[in-house]
Amino acid sequence: MPDVEITPKRIAGFIEPFRVEPGRKVRLPRDFDPADTREVSKADAKAILQAGVERLAEYQDRLAAQDTYGVVVVLQAMDAAGKDGTIKHVMSGVNPQGVSVNSFKVPSVEELDHDYLWRYQKALPERGRIGIFNRSHYEEVLVVRVHPQILAGQKLPAKMKGRGVWQRRYREINDWERYLTDQGFIFVKIFLNVSKEEQRRRFLARIDMPEKNWKVSSADAKERAFWDDYQKAFSDVLSNTSTEWAPWWVIPADDKPFARVAAAAVIANALIEIDPRYPTVSPEQLADLQATKDALEAEAPAGAAPDPIEAEILAKASKAGKAGGVGKAKKGKGKKG
Ligand code: AMP
Ligand code: MG
Repeated sequence: MPDVEITPKRIAGFIEPFRVEPGRKVRLPRDFDPADTREVSKADAKAILQAGVERLAEYQDRLAAQDTYGVVVVLQAMDAAGKDGTIKHVMSGVNPQGVSVNSFKVPSVEELDHDYLWRYQKALPERGRIGIFNRSHYEEVLVVRVHPQILAGQKLPAKMKGRGVWQRRYREINDWERYLTDQGFIFVKIFLNVSKEEQRRRFLARIDMPEKNWKVSSADAKERAFWDDYQKAFSDVLSNTSTEWAPWWVIPADDKPFARVAAAAVIANALIEIDPRYPTVSPEQLADLQATKDALEAEAPAGAAPDPIEAEILAKASKAGKAGGVGKAKKGKGKKG
């Protein structure tokens, strides 16, 4: 991808290899290469990210104006795969008022006193907004599966902890996501796929660089001992919960700049598919705006243009080859401009 011009079609084509086809049986690490960078250079990656972020900002503005759809970005990964950096870079251009980030940790006592989806339901974004889940309901079939004592500690009826618990949870999660999708809440599920060796390097970087020390704990290194169990649990999640309404995207994460480009592209693609539109103004509202405009123009002090803004907009529009707003409607009605 050498040039910076990225069309919706190119974005869709670029991310297609990362989509988990619903029903596909996935086995990690065999099926997705964490080091894949599709031959994008660092400089290109930076430029494409910039373009993708701009597109995101534009579509988020429309999403908010339309106020019909909400977007839930689910980020799952092993430690040090780059979830935080991805959030920081990908969302850098969007209006903070339109975005929320929820980081899910070990559940609280209050949370354990509810059904397992309760805290995720509570954290969903409103319509018109993007909610980022830094970890998510998928922890309920990942960390909880890898460490059976966590399931044991959940206050479930005994028969809900036995055989079939994971298949049941996949079904419940799929149903919940389907219900929400039908309600206008679109899931964008991203798995940042880092390799075991790259994780080792990043842990070492966190130890060797004093300003990164705060990010690493011995618990993280201990969790690494369960690497294979996590790979199996992730494989099972990808195989069972990539659906037509909420597919998974497996993003190669060994190369940070590439991972950010790909994540931005996946999120931008989701917004492009939603295709949010600015609300159209009814003829009554337009007439009302026109009356207000006439009144404001009549208030122009001596020597001032009645509407200095309209002149600017018309000049810009004729440059870009388009016209819009009340100025256009006014001409249509044949009124004096
Ligand atoms: P971090 O994201 O590094 O701050 O760590 C959060 C920790 O909370 C991770 O070790 C997660 O595995 C853990 N965690 C998140 N959700 C759950 C959950 N539902 N049950 C148990 N542990 C969880
Ligand atoms: Mg951590």
